[in-house]
Amino acid sequence: MTTAPETALDSTKRTPEPELDPEGQSLGNRITVFFFVLVPLLALIAAVPFAWGWGLTWLDIAIGAVFYVIGGLGITVGFHRHFTHGSFKAKRPLRIALAIAGSLAIEGGVIKWVADHRRHHKYADAEGDPHSPWRFGDDWRSVAKGLFYAHMAWMFLSEEKTSPKRFAPDLLKDKDLVKIDRWFGAIVLFSLLAPAVIGGLITMSWWGAFTAFFWGGLVRVALLHHVTWSVNSICHTIGEENFEVRDRSRNVWWLAIPSFGESWHNLHHADPTCARHGVLKGQIDISARVIWAFEKLGWATKVRWPNAERLAAKRVSV
Ligand SMILES: [Zn+2]
Ligand SMILES: [Zn+2]
Repeated sequence: MTTAPETALDSTKRTPEPELDPEGQSLGNRITVFFFVLVPLLALIAAVPFAWGWGLTWLDIAIGAVFYVIGGLGITVGFHRHFTHGSFKAKRPLRIALAIAGSLAIEGGVIKWVADHRRHHKYADAEGDPHSPWRFGDDWRSVAKGLFYAHMAWMFLSEEKTSPKRFAPDLLKDKDLVKIDRWFGAIVLFSLLAPAVIGGLITMSWWGAFTAFFWGGLVRVALLHHVTWSVNSICHTIGEENFEVRDRSRNVWWLAIPSFGESWHNLHHADPTCARHGVLKGQIDISARVIWAFEKLGWATKVRWPNAERLAAKRVSV
């Protein structure tokens, strides 16, 4: 018999508090966020009217939207709230469907994603965090570099690899998940080619297949990537601190809809296993609604809904 490896599931053990100024919202930070994230997206939106009618149709948008929602919820409900944090138990078919849906987002296989994210929570904004925007320092130049790093560069530049044995031993024991993880390459191909096939068959043209591939495949994946990465970069830099945390996680309202509720990231770090991240009045959390629907259908059980007392204890007094 081997001994069970140490898990890092939302461990309350943390490295000493980071020696950083908790008030990091300077104008420099905001301008940097704008340039790195919003300008490329605005450029993409500006391209839409030029392409409309000949290189982009409602059909491309519809195909892209469907794949965005499936992949996005696969990440938020599946990879994040279920597999990483165990905020609910899922019946086996749902568990498998969530692992496949999340893989369609092309953010890495489920086991790697979960291992990286658990390490992020363990060391949030301290040494050891795979993607903290504060890793280079507090002045605006360091934050600019940090934002870019947290947003995407960590995936290319970091030589560190999170150990799945150390951070995701529970997933490694699940044969179905190991299989889905191994098939990640095939799921990526499907995610990119299925929109092309659907677009081609509906329009019965190669051009229809191409535009559906471009908008429903490539652009959809890029948009979802930016939204997911924004939770790592923007939601650890600017926004509101409604709950007490030891890191720099913040609630960012304008990302709530595209991120399916994940941008209520300050609450998430305050109470990581909670199935609902948008717990305050008016905080829309689509992923929590979906989990609620799964619970009603009997597919999800033991859902960890917000606990009023626990939340009140962590609420920042205003
Ligand atoms: Zn975080
Ligand atoms: Zn998390």
